[in-house]
Amino acid sequence: MLTTSVRFAYRLIGTLGALHFLFILTLSEHISGLSVALFTVCVIAVLPPVQRRIRQLPLLGRDWFFGCAFLILIFVANVQLERGNRPEIVHGEYAFAHATLITGELGAAPISDAVILVDVSGEIVEVGTSASLTIPDGYETIDLSGKFLLPGLINAHGHLVMSGSEPGRTVEMTRFGPPEWVVGMFLTLAPTYAGEKVLVRLMERNAMRALRAGITTVRGLGDPEFYDVVLRKQIESGRSLGPRLLVAGPLLCTTGGHARQIGITLDGPDEARRAVRTSLSHEVDVIKIASTGGVADSKRLGEAGELQMTPEEISAITDEAHRKGVLVTAHAESAEGVLEALRAGIDNIEHGAELDDEALGLFLNNPRSLRGFTSLHPTLSVISSNRTLNEEGRKNRALYIRYMNGQQVSRDVISGYKSAVAAGVKIGVGTDGGLVDHASVWRELEFMIQHGNITNERAIHIGTLATAESIGIEATTGSIEIGKAADFMVVDANPFEELSTLDNPHMVVAAGSIVDRH
Ligand SMILES: [Zn+2]
Repeated sequence: MLTTSVRFAYRLIGTLGALHFLFILTLSEHISGLSVALFTVCVIAVLPPVQRRIRQLPLLGRDWFFGCAFLILIFVANVQLERGNRPEIVHGEYAFAHATLITGELGAAPISDAVILVDVSGEIVEVGTSASLTIPDGYETIDLSGKFLLPGLINAHGHLVMSGSEPGRTVEMTRFGPPEWVVGMFLTLAPTYAGEKVLVRLMERNAMRALRAGITTVRGLGDPEFYDVVLRKQIESGRSLGPRLLVAGPLLCTTGGHARQIGITLDGPDEARRAVRTSLSHEVDVIKIASTGGVADSKRLGEAGELQMTPEEISAITDEAHRKGVLVTAHAESAEGVLEALRAGIDNIEHGAELDDEALGLFLNNPRSLRGFTSLHPTLSVISSNRTLNEEGRKNRALYIRYMNGQQVSRDVISGYKSAVAAGVKIGVGTDGGLVDHASVWRELEFMIQHGNITNERAIHIGTLATAESIGIEATTGSIEIGKAADFMVVDANPFEELSTLDNPHMVVAAGSIVDRH
């Protein structure tokens, strides 16, 4: 017989194991049948009538043996659930054949009846046509006759922890994930075990939503606790399928400043340097700062464009990051804010504002930036949100202020985008995914075409290769080229003629792995 305290310990651990199982189960997309079977056995085994029978059995009837068996079963059920929970990653030697190829290069004519060879490492090893290229033995041919193949889209600005709504909808924020208050609760619990479990899963789901829509790279610009780094490592190590991630961890902001809820606050150049070093020690890929106020958390009219970070703070940040070869991007929503960030050597501007000649000049030639130029991510998707004020918004002062600030920023960002296009500034695609749906990146291209009067071809180049260049990953991805990662999407119609075909890809390939192949 076991002592009371040992029995109590068994029961406590068993109960915690069962609760953990149920907790993970509610977060799971793909559920392992074996894990559910094991869990069911555990539940049946503790039912009182079954317990009475078990107690009469020779070995299993002994308390210590039953306790151990129970704990092992519940442990294995948990492990199985965790493992069986992720989309499968399959690498092979593939020949993607007979599609019309859009390479992502601007001005390159589409190649009919193309063949792209991808090896087991997920790299493009050959690009040609059916006539010019023989498919080697051992390669599996995937017939894409009548389809169009183009590089996966890149979203240079997302927040993985939030799920977003359709661009252009209203002040209502979350539509594709759990309600905002649930996410808010777990953000409060972020540093705890439960917080990490829930938030990393949520980020994984949002990242998968993007990937299934053909977005093969997402740059996360502000998420709690460096959990975006945790997810990136899971994907890099093959434990999780997802888009290529570049992440900033929590963004850097000032005390009381924009996005402090998901930020590291700093005041003064020394703290600015320390914040960059902290972020880099967590292995982030990029530094994101909030140099001005923002719409989403504004409480006063005009707060969105208000200067928050000082030029000295921004300079300390760019200097420290550039020493390590890391790009810095700034949330900036006013002309003065953009200018201060540009003068301090910022590498990208998120959102933007009206741009004067000095600003445009610095975008094109910015000696203090890491690469000599600064690029613009106008995030037209998010600034086109909040376009209509619904009934609730009319009555609610806080929503009204956000709406009015949104209107102001929206006018200025569109104006800045137009002058940037005219001046030849490098432009990239960022939607502020999380505030808008992670899957609707193609809509950003639509907004760019609409406001910038550019062709579909140019927009697709911006959404792929130009964004890769903007965020510094053009050597790895962004176009269909030998030596680059096999990151692409296959669509039914010619996107040069019909952009909306990007909304529903026929196939998505991420680093050589075919997503959701059935
Ligand atoms: Zn953002």
